[in-house]
Amino acid sequence: MNVLVINCGSSSLKYQLIEMTDEEVLAKGLVERIGLEGSVLTHRPKDMDKIIIEKDMKDHKEAVKLVLEALVDKNHGVIKSMDEITAVGHRVVHGGEKYSGSVLIDDVVMNVLKECSAIAPLHNPPNIIGINACRDLMPDVPMAAVFDTAFHQTMPDYSYMYALPYEYYEKFSIRKYGFHGTSHKYVSIKAAEMLNKPYNELKIITCHLGNGSSVAAVKNGKSVDTSMGFTPLEGLMMGTRSGDLDPAIIDYLASREGMTISEINNVLNKKSGFLGVSGVSSDSRDIENAAKEGNKRAQMAFSMFCYRVKKYIGAYAAAMGGVDTIVFTAGIGENSIPTREKICEDMEFLGITIDKEKNKIRGKKEDISAAGAKVRVLIIPTDEEMMIARETREIAACK
Ligand code: AMP
Repeated sequence: MNVLVINCGSSSLKYQLIEMTDEEVLAKGLVERIGLEGSVLTHRPKDMDKIIIEKDMKDHKEAVKLVLEALVDKNHGVIKSMDEITAVGHRVVHGGEKYSGSVLIDDVVMNVLKECSAIAPLHNPPNIIGINACRDLMPDVPMAAVFDTAFHQTMPDYSYMYALPYEYYEKFSIRKYGFHGTSHKYVSIKAAEMLNKPYNELKIITCHLGNGSSVAAVKNGKSVDTSMGFTPLEGLMMGTRSGDLDPAIIDYLASREGMTISEINNVLNKKSGFLGVSGVSSDSRDIENAAKEGNKRAQMAFSMFCYRVKKYIGAYAAAMGGVDTIVFTAGIGENSIPTREKICEDMEFLGITIDKEKNKIRGKKEDISAAGAKVRVLIIPTDEEMMIARETREIAACK
């Protein structure tokens, strides 16, 4: 069984074709600049050199068409015909309160996704466009929607509610949803496997630290809290996002700078975080290098990021009544040795001590806790595509 995983952005499309018996990636790739001048497909078939196809693609349907052609191509294809695509799994950012798991896509689901666009105006519309393009081109292939929010739908109300007038929750569904759910679910399941303990008996804190970052508290196999909120802006400081701040700053900035709410929103999403604080870059590698060279603001940005992750770990240990394991994943979590070291510094009181030598590793699964430490600290590379493919396999099998 082959599952095609599709992740659509506004002008991009990432894909993987995965053979599910051995969970082997047959091909993966990326289409960029869809609808813009200079659109390009980078196709990476297994055991072959990558192929770059430069061709104008006016919309996502043309992009999907080109991807399918690349997959069945005589020279750089990996399957003989499109009939070998058993199912398609789509990453969808927001499933609102409606979906606590993945679903088989039909017209009813599509209508709900459109409704959810009101609370995810940047993310859901491109996902919907991608699904429509695939449904047009592969009308008989079962497709699943796998939501970033679904894993967090187990949060209790006292965890997901904001202390706003209740009518805003009733009228506008304003509450914490959380994101990166596919990643938090994947690495928390893997952590239980690594520890050889039952998933539903563990207290796990998963730290997805990348360009977008979030922490989740996973108790007995269920997400009970997470740092992102109504949108992916809340929580940790990120590459360009501010994360948590006093909402009164918005009004103050509006009056001092004469900015509109949407201009301030843009600053909070695109000009803050590592980039805004350091003035150097949104990329943590640049921050680390500048900090090493003595750049004070880069040093502060690094310290702020680590301090905030540390605070969430403390909060979630309290929320769960303890913690058995902490997982680091995503670009920074998997690769940044100093970030992991700094976050775990002075955490012995919680049972967290890492082995600094074992921590000198990048992008590989590893238990980096010191011998005898009560809390196991793990690095687990995330694989959202594989998780989407697994969920899609389940959905397609039930069809
Ligand atoms: P992601 O969003 O998961 O792709 O992660 C992107 C982030 O991971 C960027 O801030 C990168 O700087 C960071 N990253 C990737 N590789 C490394 C590395 N070797 N050391 C430190 N940070 C890294």
